[in-house]
Amino acid sequence: MADTPKYVYFFGGGQADGSTDMKNSLGGKGANLAEMTRIGVQVPAGFTIPTEVCNHFSDNDGAYPDGLREQVATALTQVEDVMGAKLGCDTNPLLVSCRSGARESMPGMMDTVLNIGLNDNSVQALANHSGNEQFAWDSYRRFIQMFGDVVLGVRAGDDEHEDPFEVLLEAKKTAAGVKYDSELSAEQLQQLVAEFKAEIQQRTGQNFPDDPIDQIWSAVGAVFGSWNNDRAIVYRRDYGIPHGWGTACNVQAMVYGNLGDDCATGVGLTRDCSMGAPGFNGDYLINAQGEDVVAGIRTPKRIETSLKDEMPEVYEQLETIGKTLENHYQDVQDIEFTVQKGRVWLLQTRNAKRTGFAAVRIAVDLVNEGLITSEQALEKRRIPADDLNQLLQPVFDPQGKADAEADGRLLTKGINAGPGAASGTICLTAAEAERLHNINPDEPLILVRRETSPEDLRGMRAAQGILTAFGGASSHAALVSRQMGKTCIVGANELNVDYTAGTVSVGDTVLKTGDPISIDGFTGEVFTGMVKTTESEIVNVLIKNTIDPDESLAYQNYAQLMEWVDQYRTLGVRTNADLPDQAIEAVAFGAEGIGLCRTEHMFLEHLEEIREMILARDPDTRLAAINRLLPFQQEEFTGLFRAMQGRPVTIRLLDPPLHEFLSERHLEEQPDLADRLATQLGISIDEVRARTAELHEENPMLGHRGCRLGIVYPEITAMQARAIMQAAVTVAAEGIDVHPEVMVPLVAFQTEIDNQADIVRKTAEAVFAETGTTVDYQIGTMIEVPRAALRSDEIAETAEFFSFGTNDLTQTCLGMSRDDYGGFIGYYQENDIVPFDPFQSIDPGGVGRLIELGVAGGRSTRSDLKIGICGEHGGDPASVMFCHRAGLNYVSCSPYRVPIARLAAAQEALASAT
Ligand code: PEP
Ligand code: MG
Repeated sequence: MADTPKYVYFFGGGQADGSTDMKNSLGGKGANLAEMTRIGVQVPAGFTIPTEVCNHFSDNDGAYPDGLREQVATALTQVEDVMGAKLGCDTNPLLVSCRSGARESMPGMMDTVLNIGLNDNSVQALANHSGNEQFAWDSYRRFIQMFGDVVLGVRAGDDEHEDPFEVLLEAKKTAAGVKYDSELSAEQLQQLVAEFKAEIQQRTGQNFPDDPIDQIWSAVGAVFGSWNNDRAIVYRRDYGIPHGWGTACNVQAMVYGNLGDDCATGVGLTRDCSMGAPGFNGDYLINAQGEDVVAGIRTPKRIETSLKDEMPEVYEQLETIGKTLENHYQDVQDIEFTVQKGRVWLLQTRNAKRTGFAAVRIAVDLVNEGLITSEQALEKRRIPADDLNQLLQPVFDPQGKADAEADGRLLTKGINAGPGAASGTICLTAAEAERLHNINPDEPLILVRRETSPEDLRGMRAAQGILTAFGGASSHAALVSRQMGKTCIVGANELNVDYTAGTVSVGDTVLKTGDPISIDGFTGEVFTGMVKTTESEIVNVLIKNTIDPDESLAYQNYAQLMEWVDQYRTLGVRTNADLPDQAIEAVAFGAEGIGLCRTEHMFLEHLEEIREMILARDPDTRLAAINRLLPFQQEEFTGLFRAMQGRPVTIRLLDPPLHEFLSERHLEEQPDLADRLATQLGISIDEVRARTAELHEENPMLGHRGCRLGIVYPEITAMQARAIMQAAVTVAAEGIDVHPEVMVPLVAFQTEIDNQADIVRKTAEAVFAETGTTVDYQIGTMIEVPRAALRSDEIAETAEFFSFGTNDLTQTCLGMSRDDYGGFIGYYQENDIVPFDPFQSIDPGGVGRLIELGVAGGRSTRSDLKIGICGEHGGDPASVMFCHRAGLNYVSCSPYRVPIARLAAAQEALASAT
């Protein structure tokens, strides 16, 4: 009928209905089969049933749209014509395969059936036509086995360990006294076919279907049905592939790699995708069918080492095809091929998946070879920005990790809070970590805690990695470890950390202090024992200076790529850093300023003074204690200004609730602390305890913190402002440019920023008058509670810049505690309640909306208002891209994420320009 939609896309004989830009409908495989046909690469004829039909099938209980059957029948005739063979015919039978193929490849997740069209008649015809009886019966038994499993569900039941067909196959080989399937005779294979059919009949009560058309429709149904099998659903969730996309189904004429020694099957890559070296490479098997390579039944040979000698003409054809495809697709291709009687047929091509290392090298090489432009090199699909992590962090040796998995050493999983891989011995306290580190700085340690507290900082510094049972992606442990570039997993809820017994356990597995443990901060996986790790070459060149840049190809490629990145990005990238060495690292990674210096981290080195301030009975004593902190703060700010050499430095006034420095937990964990403090301050132990109890808050993240502290204790703000301004004046006198930006945290009301700005300005004026030197500075605010975003127009009357604190903005927008969400977020993600962790990636509809409102409000008052983001989201590629679109001036993230943010910013600049 003229108005029936097109449901079937034919390809073959140099003609194709589809093309590569129809991936959404035809899936990657179908679109590329069509495209290869168009550009003259030899592809067996076939047709693609599009993803829309899969969705119709899923939504209508397995029913097909009207008109599909007729279109399939027509296409089948076309395939028969092109291939010169006929389905079910008894002279030259056509066999077809039926394969899934989604918009994005989901390797091995969905189903495939090969050799469709065989029955007791056509198998004889195939034997006659090919002149190879053994091949024909082997194809038939493979078909029954695959169809039996995929379509009819005949597979190992819960009480069986082995596939029922494999059991029969093994028995046949044993009876025949042979080792390989290929050694079975035609007669033995024929017997096996009968046994397989009997097994199916016995298990399903059905006869094996003989009619090729019925076989095709059953296979198509199985392929569409496999879109919703469990592993496909899990894969989609992991890779962010929408469930609504559906898969296409490709029905294609079979070609045979198992017709003799001039036949082969293989998979190849046009370049190496592990490290990116040029040159065709891959696996092949002579006289075999494709699944043999994938299933690992026989050990394949390497194309790059032996194919050239074994099949020189085939090698040449493959090289030519590889070049044609790379030129056409302008990217490395991952191909599947069959050699039938010396002739190469392509069954699939797709842009190859690659590691971060390979991605960078390939992108740079393709530009140098003139195949792509530098803009194309930066495309997100070529180098997902997060994959740069692999170049910047230590990673597990892949084999080492695979062995650990195979040995059952996976202990548990938590939130992947700091990328990298680390192995070391377990330490349960920061003091122990520090002690061991001082004895032997080369001994790798993993600090394992229930959660981390401020005092753990020194231990975190000493450790290779951090693992906690509680906390979320923006908890203290996570953000501090990221800032230090340490591997970190938080919220591993199954972990039971018993400080008294000195053990870490999950179920029955109990590890002790000093036992080895390994953590994968990319995935959140925790393993018992050591797993070999490899250091980052880029860090060795850039940060540790242990490798000369001229000797590192990896570094040179990275440097080239980042040069292009900076050419295209418009969004600034700053860093979150509190210490000069972090700042220096960040600058080496390309940071253009400090977007967040959390001043409380400096206080952790001076707990004595801050506790004295907290315990002070009256303003004078408090002031005296606070002023003891002044020189330390000033020295640290001086170091930061020097390190940043004229780049802007945003310093946030004190933010955390005071109980982070003194709480009942501290008194419990350090039994002599109350006594020491009482002696130090000349007060009673009871008073120390009473004051500590007063500081207790039920929900510390929403209590007396942020600017509320500086408002109630203005001396703190005054001291910090003085430290900043005196440091600035000192550094300016050294001839270094200084641009301090004083940032007020957790502002909700304009009156709050007014109050704090007033103190800062007065202090600055006093310092300038005392020293006779003036420096330019700005006062701004964090936007990290919804009210600030909603009233940003008013707040911008006082604030000279904004920085979105998306950690707090997420917890306040969602009403979800940043420290306690680890207990349920895994469940939420697994059940599609949320698509990702909102503390790692900006929730665009909620938090993102507040950001947009905040930007609009702020700029309605000050059109040139400088706006950044300094929550942990600032290093997440999707969030960086969001910030670009929202019109922010910069993102600020931990030093090791600076290159990632730069790349993501360039990618979005290029994407939104087109
Ligand atoms: C934030 O809330 O996003 C932020 C940067 O501040 P902190 O994480 O220190 O609360
Ligand atoms: Mg905050």
